[in-house]
Amino acid sequence: MQDTAFSSLQLEERFLANLSQLGYRQMTPVQASALPAALAGRDLIVQAKTGSGKTAAFGIGMLLKLNPTLFAVQGMVLCPTRELADQVAGELRRLARGIGNVKVVTLTGGVPMRPQIASLEFGAHIVVGTPGRVRDHLQRRTLDLARLHTLVLDEADRMTDMGFYDEIAGIVRDCPSYRQTLLFSATYPDDIREATVHFLTDPQEIAVETQH
Ligand code: ADP
Ligand code: MG
Repeated sequence: MQDTAFSSLQLEERFLANLSQLGYRQMTPVQASALPAALAGRDLIVQAKTGSGKTAAFGIGMLLKLNPTLFAVQGMVLCPTRELADQVAGELRRLARGIGNVKVVTLTGGVPMRPQIASLEFGAHIVVGTPGRVRDHLQRRTLDLARLHTLVLDEADRMTDMGFYDEIAGIVRDCPSYRQTLLFSATYPDDIREATVHFLTDPQEIAVETQH
């Protein structure tokens, strides 16, 4: 049987110790399927139900690729709502304790621009945001993605259903073409596949504990 302990991955002691402190010892099925491929640098389309541990499935690979001494946005997660963005940012901050000083900034609508701009100027490693507000920052040139290496489309089905497709396509055009792209979705019907599959390069598709 496959070993699903986090310690079976080639992770630094400090990173493992933090996971263990968070109560993470065994990978969830989606983590066990996605993490080795994500760590190997593959683009992924991952379909798994809510509550299956998708945040760590993309967050761990993104954090391990991060250079904390480089004050530039290196990872970005797009989420459908402010609440989900806040949840993802919180989880990434907890996971990042095993790396060092990692600054995660949320860029969501419904809150003033100015503090977000100030946070970006101060230096962010990871941005978690909703498509409309992220696009807004890109158009004002308050967000620079030149050093981005990992792009995550979280809850891609909900983002598409909510009408964010054009914003996402615009954001992707502003991302470096040499990057890792990870798409996570609870469902992945054909119309969403057609709309989003070109954001990825030769993606590996993983489906575990899916919902319909
Ligand atoms: P999803 O995005 O698939 O809905 P989340 O990433 O939000 O799921 O994770 C759901 C919950 O499970 C969170 O509270 C998270 O902290 C917890 N969790 C994730 N992975 C593990 C793990 N390997 N061991 C224990 N708890 C975990
Ligand atoms: Mg999630």
